[in-house]
Amino acid sequence: MTDRIFSLIDQEKQRQTEMVGLIPSENNTSPEVSRVLSSCLSNKYSEGYAGRRYYEGNEIIDEIESLAVERVKSLFGVAYANVQPYSGSPANLAIYFALMDPGDTILGLKLAHGGHLTHGHPKVTASGTFYTSVQYGVDESARIDFDEVRSLARKHKPKVIVAGNTAYPFELDFKTFRDIADEVGAWLVADISHVTGLVIGGQHSSPVPHADVIMSTTHKTFRGPRGAMILVTERGVKKDSKLPQKIDSAIIPGLQGGPHNATTAAIAIAAEEATKPEYKQYTKRIRANATALAESLLSAGIQLVGGGTQTHLMVLDFSSIRPELGSQIAIALNAAGIYANKNTVPTEQGSPFYPSGVRIGTPLVTTRGMGVVQMHQIADWIARVVEWVATGSTLPEEKQQRASFLNDYRAHTAADTTLQAVRQEVKEVATQFPLFSWEEIG
Ligand SMILES: *Cc1c(COP(=O)(O)O)cnc(C)c1O
Repeated sequence: MTDRIFSLIDQEKQRQTEMVGLIPSENNTSPEVSRVLSSCLSNKYSEGYAGRRYYEGNEIIDEIESLAVERVKSLFGVAYANVQPYSGSPANLAIYFALMDPGDTILGLKLAHGGHLTHGHPKVTASGTFYTSVQYGVDESARIDFDEVRSLARKHKPKVIVAGNTAYPFELDFKTFRDIADEVGAWLVADISHVTGLVIGGQHSSPVPHADVIMSTTHKTFRGPRGAMILVTERGVKKDSKLPQKIDSAIIPGLQGGPHNATTAAIAIAAEEATKPEYKQYTKRIRANATALAESLLSAGIQLVGGGTQTHLMVLDFSSIRPELGSQIAIALNAAGIYANKNTVPTEQGSPFYPSGVRIGTPLVTTRGMGVVQMHQIADWIARVVEWVATGSTLPEEKQQRASFLNDYRAHTAADTTLQAVRQEVKEVATQFPLFSWEEIG
């Protein structure tokens, strides 16, 4: 008998194939990465590091992990790499655990302005609870306000400054972050989870000359398995030669047990793929597609936070139509065959659950081989869905009615013929592009 899980996986594959995925943190891995992920490597326990494990039988795992570490180090040109973090969030916590004592101050970008929860978001997160959190934001042009970063740094003397983003569409100026960190004697941690691929492909400035420690997830633009890596730069090692050991011990015994060896091997595969000329070409096309998509959306009258993008992502701002409209638009887009995520905008009057924006990006559609022609098409579909939502029913004021409204709205959008017509068009285009395609990209 076949387990129901397998038919659900088939359904998910069909969903991914027939829809257009615009969530900027998602990507499709190569068949080789997928194959390694489902290998026998996940059967093995390997607590510790190559040559010093707590379990027997790790001769081959040692070789695999060493290969992954060497490839990542040479890809970025850094002194040290740890590829064991289970994902980006524990990786950041490990870095803080290595660099700070409880109660020390962390300075990071506000969530609503494009930062990540793990950058010290107050109250509800570990980084905002165990450490004293201070948060900087963006200015009226939606660019990082370095005057604010500098004055907060001088005032609060943070131990760690985080330069990183999840919904900030502009390039990060690592050099200026470095100058501020030096002025107040802080560690500079660059969290490049979103833009790693662009950094490797030369499409975004590199934090390597400026940061002490770099964290990246491996499943976003990097296009590897779900996981993360922590790098220490030459500069970081010069500042503290014990930094690599501190990171190693923060991962295990600090935070984690056994590494996910199949993931480690898949990171090695993805790191090798990232050295290919086709990968560089891929990252160029991510940018070209993002620029084309942004231009088409702007000419369709849709507002973008900061007026555009310098990366792979952009945030659509619907606050001038109605605050909190983002939650409805994300649902309607999904019914129309396009999946994205609702997102706060810097001037947010709503909340993270009822925000005014939608975040989109091009890494996944570019992996499938879509180009500028498809970006114009996607912008047109989005504009039609926005028009449909903007002229329709409104989220109720009353808090208790809101959750049921969004559920009803989901059913309402799924049954609507206008959205179904868009969905059909999306499906016709999407199915022409396989989930992963070196040929199309190269
Ligand atoms: C995605 C992301 C993380 C967290 O990664 P998870 O794998 O989801 O835990 C951390 N920081 C940034 C900047 C991210 O984009």
